[in-house]
Amino acid sequence: MTSKASQATEASQPTKATTPPLWLLAELTYQCPLHCPYCSNPVNMEETFNELSTSQWKKVFREAREMGAVQLGFSGGEPLLRKDLEELVAYARELGFYTNLITSGIGMTEKRIAKLKDAGLDHIQLSFQSANADVNDLIGNKRHSFKQKLNIAKLVKAYNYPMVLNFCITAQNIREIEEVMTLSTELKADFVELATVQYYGWAYENREHLLPTQSQLVEAEQAINRYRDQQSGGPKFMFVTPDYYENRPKACMNGWGTTFLTVTPDGSALPCHSAKILPLTFPNVKDSSVQNIWEHDFSFNHFRGDDWMPSPCKTCDEKDKDFGGCRCQAFLLTGDMHKTDPVCDKSPDHHLMKTITDKAGQQASSTLKFRTVKNNIPVKMIQDLTV
Ligand code: SF4
Ligand code: SF4
Repeated sequence: MTSKASQATEASQPTKATTPPLWLLAELTYQCPLHCPYCSNPVNMEETFNELSTSQWKKVFREAREMGAVQLGFSGGEPLLRKDLEELVAYARELGFYTNLITSGIGMTEKRIAKLKDAGLDHIQLSFQSANADVNDLIGNKRHSFKQKLNIAKLVKAYNYPMVLNFCITAQNIREIEEVMTLSTELKADFVELATVQYYGWAYENREHLLPTQSQLVEAEQAINRYRDQQSGGPKFMFVTPDYYENRPKACMNGWGTTFLTVTPDGSALPCHSAKILPLTFPNVKDSSVQNIWEHDFSFNHFRGDDWMPSPCKTCDEKDKDFGGCRCQAFLLTGDMHKTDPVCDKSPDHHLMKTITDKAGQQASSTLKFRTVKNNIPVKMIQDLTV
């Protein structure tokens, strides 16, 4: 890791913020009953044990809302593990947020779903690991979790929530994309994210096992298009591909410090949920107001605008489209967070992408590392998923 970028005190930083944080992601806890090997939570989860209190979260919501934030995602880990979830949802609704619960469904009960409805929760996004019960339970490393998720999906509809289903697509489950679409239709989902894993956190650790090959992605896309063509009504399917096979990077977070604010369980404020891996010191909501952080903190200003950009981004006529790509990806792949995202074929590091994608589909799933706060879980039970 390179040394930390030099940082001045927040008071000495003139703001470069031109918009408020419209989207607040509250990562209430990193604890989770599942152990997905593609989890975007940090690999080092010491923060799990130093969570913000109910009143500290309320302060964050109040301050973000006063600045103009409109969407609030309750995420984790598994946010249902927070006993104060209903209280936090009710408070957020009172402030006028549109609220979204991002959950694995494990730990949800009918009593809780009814209480969340009373609290004013607007929207539920439920994740599945697979459309196949055995594969689902193996990937999440929890027996009977598929059955629980099916029950929760039915309750979500019974309580009239709009329902988004999220399937993380990897080399282990990409061949069953048609089954995923059939299941989503049966469950009467409104939207379905078929989201190929993005390689951060645990997914980065397991990248060689999880990354589908290009031909698998092409076949999956063809299957999705065939399914869409014969659909009359039913869910809207969104296929999110990994940018490792692209020639231009994603417009990460719609630009650093323009739209999204993530607050982690211990109160760290981040411009994106992966940013803590970067050699920057991030502020904490326990020490400063959301407004001070957003407008004046060095880490939030550091990649705003284009002053920081290296060549070729600096003079590129596409820099307003993708903002030079993802800072975390640049750091993970090149060791320098200031470089052009190597996904871009104008980057001098673009050759790295081929080195990575050439290895796709070659690693046995039996050596996957499951997400865990302690040591790795033995992975014998997943041996049948070898790609
Ligand atoms: S990706 Fe899996 S392990 Fe990570 S928070 Fe979601 S359900 Fe839990
Ligand atoms: S050179 Fe930079 S700004 Fe231009 S397309 Fe590539 S990543 Fe985007």
